[in-house]
Amino acid sequence: MIRTTLATALLVGALAVDAAAQQGMKVYISADMEGVVGTVTSDQLGPGGFEYQRFRHFMTEEVNAAIEAARAMGATEILVSDSHGNGENLLIEEMPQDVQLVRSWPRPLEMMEGIDDTFDAVIFIGYHASTHNTEGVRAHTISSASFTAVRVNGVDMMEASLNAAIAGDFGVPVVMISGDDGAVAEAQSMLGDIEGAITKWHYGFHSARTLMPEASYRSIGEKVRAALGRLDDFQPYRMEGPVELELSFKNYMPAELLAYLPSVDRVDSHTIRFVGRDMTEVSKFIVFTTNYAIGVTP
Ligand SMILES: [Zn+2]
Repeated sequence: MIRTTLATALLVGALAVDAAAQQGMKVYISADMEGVVGTVTSDQLGPGGFEYQRFRHFMTEEVNAAIEAARAMGATEILVSDSHGNGENLLIEEMPQDVQLVRSWPRPLEMMEGIDDTFDAVIFIGYHASTHNTEGVRAHTISSASFTAVRVNGVDMMEASLNAAIAGDFGVPVVMISGDDGAVAEAQSMLGDIEGAITKWHYGFHSARTLMPEASYRSIGEKVRAALGRLDDFQPYRMEGPVELELSFKNYMPAELLAYLPSVDRVDSHTIRFVGRDMTEVSKFIVFTTNYAIGVTP
């Protein structure tokens, strides 16, 4: 009797999911690590950290939870970009065989490399708050060592909004984000009513109260299903071109040297302005400023 009831409930549940699913959907997943369940310091976030190898697994499982939920909602093509640190965090052998993965840097569209106008939705996993936000674990924008502000068309950006604007150039909306409470709140304030899976609650830059991994995977799955079940609710986040980028550096010298370029204006001692035709040009400029050095090899 119990079994029959359970089977009926599962069947009804499955039918409900099917009704909202859109067959043939194409989904882009950009995965960072600071917002992954349990991450609080560099102990989890890079090869030098004593917990890094284990947290690569948790990051991979959060991405897998999003993949599984997207598939349940009708996604047939999924591209994942490994978008943290060295770009080589996700454990490729633990991922499903029918997705593809973008790895390592530099790449012109950075955390959004591979996005184009054939995608239906973008999902952010493991994201964090911006450098100007006091409410978030490891809050920074692109490089915590380099930038105090990244502004696009006068708007102070977080990585989620910057990446949403890149997707917006291709007409693709962001529908869901996972990360700490600060990241989710900031993204929702900038991008509108996207779904948010909170993995932990910040106490400070290096401290949080966190979910357990399985609970995080479950929550991510639920929010991805909810988002893809109401795809028509979301609009692309568009920046009108020409796109004006302002970068404020922690140090003086990057602003001085970049202002030698005829395409760059010095706004003040630590800030430069670059105007690009679209977000792709702006993204390439940011990648250049964060990667170029005379000793760069090969
Ligand atoms: Zn990161």
